[in-house]
Amino acid sequence: MPGSEREVFIGFGSNLGDRWKLINQAIEAVTGLPQSRLVKLSSLYETAPVGYLDQGAFLNGVLQLRSLLPPRRLLEQLLAIESRLGRVRVERWGPRTIDLDIIIIGDEIIDREELKVPHPEMAGRRFVLEPLAELAPDLVHPVKQQTITEILNQFCQANPAAEAAFVVAPPVEAVHEVKDGIFYRYRQP
Ligand code: ATP
Ligand code: CA
Ligand code: CA
Repeated sequence: MPGSEREVFIGFGSNLGDRWKLINQAIEAVTGLPQSRLVKLSSLYETAPVGYLDQGAFLNGVLQLRSLLPPRRLLEQLLAIESRLGRVRVERWGPRTIDLDIIIIGDEIIDREELKVPHPEMAGRRFVLEPLAELAPDLVHPVKQQTITEILNQFCQANPAAEAAFVVAPPVEAVHEVKDGIFYRYRQP
């Protein structure tokens, strides 16, 4: 459907380098993408690593973007932003300066090697579900046909001992929060 506007949710995370600066730079870059406009930002969360555990804690959040970019172009742009911000892929799930994942694109279902939407791991990741539920609790997962709230509740019931995702900062309300030439959407407490 070229030319149609899509409601996109993008997950972002960092656990290497100046995480606060990198997250803010990434959001600025995503916000500046062509034919796209930022709708909403979640709070910022801090979470312990999952999978490969011997690495630093993550800052994570989700943003909502309204975009005319076709999904594959959007992915290309996100990967280019990651590279610009110093992402080097050494090992999967290893430490990273910035990770930008497409979580959901409207009710589209894409199942290709290079792009799977909805993100196949989202239902098992509290650090995605919590911020996404903050933005869109009633959004229906196009495959599961459940709302984000229902998926999050199920996750919590099935994983009572799972690491919580703690809110460390709300999105900045003020228009001018500039430091080092970057517009900070999250201020480090
Ligand atoms: P995970 O996908 O489990 O969160 P990861 O984010 O660490 O792992 P990466 O190394 O960042 O994985 O990405 C590997 C590849 O995944 C990317 O090059 C991209 O082509 C592909 N990919 C598939 N689906 C998506 C998606 N929804 N969002 C971003 N990348 C995706
Ligand atoms: Ca990821
Ligand atoms: Ca990724």
